[in-house]
Amino acid sequence: MTNATTIDGHGTSRTVVALGGEGIGPEVIDVTCEVMVAGKMPVDIVTPPHGEPAIRSHGSPMPDETKRLCERADGVLFGAAGAAPTSAVVSWLRWEKGVTASVRPVKHYPGAYSPLARPDGIDYVIVREAVEGLYPGREGDLADLARAMPDLKDRVGRRVGDYGEGRFAVKIVSRAGAERVARLACDLAIKRKRRGKPGKLTCITKSNVLKLTDGLFQEVVAGVVKSYPELSFEHFHVDDGARRLVRFPQAMDVVLTMNLYGDILTDLAGETAGGLGMAPSGCFREGWAYFESVHGSAPDIAGRGIANPTAAILSAAMMLEHMGLAPEAERLEAAVARVYRDGTTLTADQGGKASTMEFGRAVQEAYRNQ
Ligand code: NAD
Repeated sequence: MTNATTIDGHGTSRTVVALGGEGIGPEVIDVTCEVMVAGKMPVDIVTPPHGEPAIRSHGSPMPDETKRLCERADGVLFGAAGAAPTSAVVSWLRWEKGVTASVRPVKHYPGAYSPLARPDGIDYVIVREAVEGLYPGREGDLADLARAMPDLKDRVGRRVGDYGEGRFAVKIVSRAGAERVARLACDLAIKRKRRGKPGKLTCITKSNVLKLTDGLFQEVVAGVVKSYPELSFEHFHVDDGARRLVRFPQAMDVVLTMNLYGDILTDLAGETAGGLGMAPSGCFREGWAYFESVHGSAPDIAGRGIANPTAAILSAAMMLEHMGLAPEAERLEAAVARVYRDGTTLTADQGGKASTMEFGRAVQEAYRNQ
């Protein structure tokens, strides 16, 4: 473990790798680690080299030893990516590790700022398919596509070669990929139903236009839901779906969508519930997961100590639950909720004056006092 720093934990039962990334990433991850340590949670936190400093020390933004630590850890917490070195980190975590779904809760905590007049009771989860669709970029020159597929036409008969010089991107939807993420979303809806939620899966595609790709996704998801008789199912096209997330957010339970739509809709949904500073996520594949905020490195506020660490703290709560520490996870979420209810120590994005660190200390205190 050369160059990896271990932050004192209180017990040896779980190992967490914390990677700050860049911009506000390290700021919110440091505060989150402090909260876990101050709360005497049974975690040992390791912070191995990554990003720009790792290029200097190890010649790679994601050194082999850091990868090994991430693979062996009980939990991995990531801050935010920005420029190439930290993009390489997220690229390894997400794509090289083969994450298949990103699970993004959208929940309003009373006291949090929302542009909606009535955000009370917003509590749903967006499951974003994470490996197919238009990500990671599969792009090329139109001339190459025209040569390879001279007969490929759009709905009105226009051939690829008719467009002249340009580029294309490939959208992939596999039956196996759609089925895998549909099962994960259905299992999540069942788990939520046991906690009193409605047990509904909402699928969002653009199958009216992209009949083959999005149509296959919709068809496979609808088929999978049939094997979960406790669940109800609905489907919306992405334009209508976006509107519904704003107009009827309380009607949502588990929303399943494709990669790029999920990327966009989770920012939109996060904003309705309090903003990007409050939107957490967990990224899963069979047998492995990592956790990160939905937001990026926020260069416009980085280095000023004013970022809202809620998204990172709630991502840590998801990680704690995933590691089998559900009581700590629930207590941490309750502590966050308490700080919002009190409303005296909120960050600037919530209309408050607290720094990142002051918010973290308020969460520590609320955690202690429960
Ligand atoms: P961003 O999410 O970094 O920021 C968007 C806006 O939200 C900014 O105004 C920012 O100040 C605000 N914001 C974000 N997080 C906040 C927080 N915790 N507290 C308060 N305000 C917050 O998106 P962007 O500006 O489009 O992207 C900046 C960089 O981040 C880009 O390089 C982008 O590629 C990268 N990015 C990375 C991830 C990731 O690591 N998973 C996700 C999105 C964007």
